[in-house]
Amino acid sequence: MRRPTSTRNTNPGGALARKVAAARIAAAIAEARAVVATGVCPTCGCGLRRNLALAGWWQCGAYGEPSFRAPEYRESPHCFFQTFTE
Ligand SMILES: [Zn+2]
Repeated sequence: MRRPTSTRNTNPGGALARKVAAARIAAAIAEARAVVATGVCPTCGCGLRRNLALAGWWQCGAYGEPSFRAPEYRESPHCFFQTFTE
């Protein structure tokens, strides 16, 4: 009985996969920067704010517990939008 043809090494070094992944990340970052440049959450329209806990982390002004939000967004419905520009 013949062994099935190996499917290994059809993608030497995974260089293409790495290139594709890097391009995908670059595209995501470019998209995030475009959103942040508007200063407005694309989901609910509240202002965006930077979370300094992580580099490039931006969140909707209505993200998280109301007590942690800026006063103008404490009454806004909870919004989960967040993005990374780095
Ligand atoms: Zn929002």
